[in-house]
Amino acid sequence: MRTLLRNAYQSDHALEIIFSSLRWFFLVLAISVFYVQYRESPDTFLLYLFLALVIFGFIYMGVSDYYLHRSPEGSRMYTYMTKGGPFFDFIAFSALVPLTGGIDSPLIPLAYLIILHVAVYWKFIGGMLSACLFILLYSIIFFIQIDGLGMSNLINYASQVVFLFLMGCLGGIIVSRERKHHSEKNLLVETANRDYITNLLNHRSFQEHLRNDLEKEASFYLTLADIDKFKLINDQYGHVTGDKVLRKIGVIMNAIVTEKQGKVFRYGGEEFAIILYSDDHDEVNKLLMEIKETVANHVFTYEGEAFSLTMSFGSSQQNGEKPDRLVDKVDKLLYEAKSRGRDQIVYPEETVETALV
Ligand code: GH3
Ligand code: MG
Ligand code: MG
Repeated sequence: MRTLLRNAYQSDHALEIIFSSLRWFFLVLAISVFYVQYRESPDTFLLYLFLALVIFGFIYMGVSDYYLHRSPEGSRMYTYMTKGGPFFDFIAFSALVPLTGGIDSPLIPLAYLIILHVAVYWKFIGGMLSACLFILLYSIIFFIQIDGLGMSNLINYASQVVFLFLMGCLGGIIVSRERKHHSEKNLLVETANRDYITNLLNHRSFQEHLRNDLEKEASFYLTLADIDKFKLINDQYGHVTGDKVLRKIGVIMNAIVTEKQGKVFRYGGEEFAIILYSDDHDEVNKLLMEIKETVANHVFTYEGEAFSLTMSFGSSQQNGEKPDRLVDKVDKLLYEAKSRGRDQIVYPEETVETALV
């Protein structure tokens, strides 16, 4: 439950799962309420109307649940189904309430939930607009249903209208504030963990990942990669071009290393760190070779002049050592690659014969 709440706080997807589960719950509740009232005064026309509504509800909710769980977040169908949810809820509410007692229906407070749901996507304006729609709907049902405008009726009506209005207004404000806070927090976390030039994960993020992966005893290879003679690039073409080169190499590495295979970081300066979740030396070597070759084959340009560059790599499987020791070990391998003439990958002694030059 705590995990669900924490997720709901952090992601719209978890929130949608809660709303979708509530929809099923309220469908069952609506069936029960209708059944009890139907037994007291059977009416075939209302029964068919209700059954049609329930069937429509089942189909809509089944389809939307399918897209909620199957289609990727942000895809067109996912967005239609999640953002369309409150519209369906409003239509269902408009039909369910008259069928389950009108202004005396126990389902009336559902309006508050729907207003909150709308406010999640359309904030204050959404909250207010949906509150107005519910006030209009409630007024129509109210004036059709009541016999005369007695004092108690008027008080009931006024309090419902005030509550709906407050829900739209305050709910909208609270949700807007929470959303703003949430997106600011996300932006801060993102800024704290990303490198400005390459948009890769930065050194801080690298240290965190390394520590976590070692604590989890995950099986992985750590690689440090350094651009060869990068100082010359800066000296010859300027720092702006140097920055562009760093950015491009970040793009190349990120395109080769998929999310599942591992993570690429800017370690600092013209050095990159790569964590590859594999214990298969050949697989790791294949990926690193692909990075090495792609970088070496890329043609950079500066004012029409073409140039290219190479990279050196040190790479080792983790052996349960402390993070600093592992980085130190891999750094020595990278140094070894430099002293052997650059443009190569060096692994520890036992695997060095398989390293490809
Ligand atoms: P080696 O093959 O031995 O690695 O030689 P190198 O020239 O790449 O290494 P060196 O350590 O002598 O120089 C690294 C250069 O990287 C110096 C520094 O100006 C440059 N550099 C570090 N960070 C940045 C950056 O963010 N942008 C740019 N443009 N240059 C950077
Ligand atoms: Mg270098
Ligand atoms: Mg360096």
